This record gives sequence, structure tokens and C-alpha cells, in this order.
Amino acid sequence: MKNPREARAILRRLETQHPNADTELAYRNPFELLVATILSAQTTDQRVNLVTPALFAGFPDAPAMAKAMPSELETLVKATGFFRAKSRSLLAMAQALVDHHGGHVPSSMEALVELPGVGRKTANVVLGHAFKVPGLPVDRHVLRVANRIGLARSDSPEVVEQQLGKLLPPERWTLTSDTLILHGRRVCKPRPLCDRCVVRKECDFFQSGGLTRPAHRRGTKRPIAARRRNPARRA
Ligand code: SF4
Repeated sequence: MKNPREARAILRRLETQHPNADTELAYRNPFELLVATILSAQTTDQRVNLVTPALFAGFPDAPAMAKAMPSELETLVKATGFFRAKSRSLLAMAQALVDHHGGHVPSSMEALVELPGVGRKTANVVLGHAFKVPGLPVDRHVLRVANRIGLARSDSPEVVEQQLGKLLPPERWTLTSDTLILHGRRVCKPRPLCDRCVVRKECDFFQSGGLTRPAHRRGTKRPIAARRRNPARRA
């Protein structure tokens, strides 16, 4: 695993490749970001951004959404997929905001994860972007990219959140997550475009042969350069 100094250098390089990384969800206040983030499960931010203008026009805040008919929400969010479950979450979340938080989105992790449909990833998105409270959302892109580079070593988003959090100061957490998400979407895809990546030299996955090595030999971390010095080892 990388140490804090190496991690900061890697993130600085990635930030030059993806300047001004930020959430791609469109929102104007914490409530809209919370709704948009719940809707973003299993779909793209662009698809969410297509449905939220009409959704927020009809239900601009928690008191309004808490009174919605489930069928009204389902029609409006259908294009994001899993629309029945998402509508149920939105309705229950809005009702909980009205019942326990005066209709406002709370600004603490503890209170956010108590809301229906809200896990740590969603809570971290809202904390980091809407409240500027350090938050480190770990989605599938952060999970994949952080493990490949060697910034983290776990399949668990919560463990990766802890490992990244120890490598970087809190004021860097949200930008780090946004940067790793963009890198995962644009470059370090499931089939990575390593020839376009600015952290090839620092990346454990690339240095151990990436997708060109058989799966059972990946992760041994022997540099490509070392293998080239010993051609007999190339099989
Ligand atoms: S070198 Fe390849 S695997 Fe490593 S971070 Fe870059 S794109 Fe991902």
C-alpha cells in the first residue's frame, strides 16, 4: 500500500488529468443533492439529471415530497431504473426529514445514515458537496481505482473509505473521491485505458502487468521493467 506522501503525489497527478473534479449531479441545495444521489444508484448522473428538473418542480422540498403519491414519484423517476424501490426510498426519506429534522437535511453522518435509503456513500456525497463537511464517498469506481493503484486493499467500501481517509487529510477527501470517480469513468474503466493514464508508473496494477498478465499472476507487484530484464521469465 502507498504511504501518505506517495498517495498525495498520486492524487496531485490525477487532479491534473481531471481538473476541477466535482459531482456531476445537478442540485441547488442539500435536499436536491440527497434526492439526486438516491436516484443515482445503478444509473448514470446524466440520466438522473434528466429527471430531476421535473421532479423538483413538482416536489421542491421534503414537506412537499412527503405528501406525494407513490405513483406520482414512480412516473417521474422511472427513467432511472428500479423506480418503485427508489420512489419508496424518496417518500420514506422525505417523511423522516419532516418527522425528525423539521423538513431539513441533517449535516451529520450519524443522522444521515438513519434516513431510509441513505447509506454511507450517499451520506458522504451530501456531506462533502452540500455541507462542505469532509466526506469520502466510495462507489464502485473509487473501489476499483484505489485498489488497482495501491491506495487501498479491500473489497469493502467502508474499509477502503477508512484506508483512504488515513492516507489523506480530511480537507482532501471529497476532491479525492471526485477525482477517483472521474478517473474510473474516463480512464481506469473495468478494462482500463492505461496508455492514457498519468499514474502508470505509480500504479501497482499496471506495474504488475495489468490485464496483459494471467489473472492468477496479477498482484505479485513485480515491476514490468524487472521482468523485461529477465526475458526467460516471460512465458
Ligand atoms: S495505470 Fe491503468 S490500472 Fe493503473 S490507474 Fe491507470 S488506468 Fe488504472
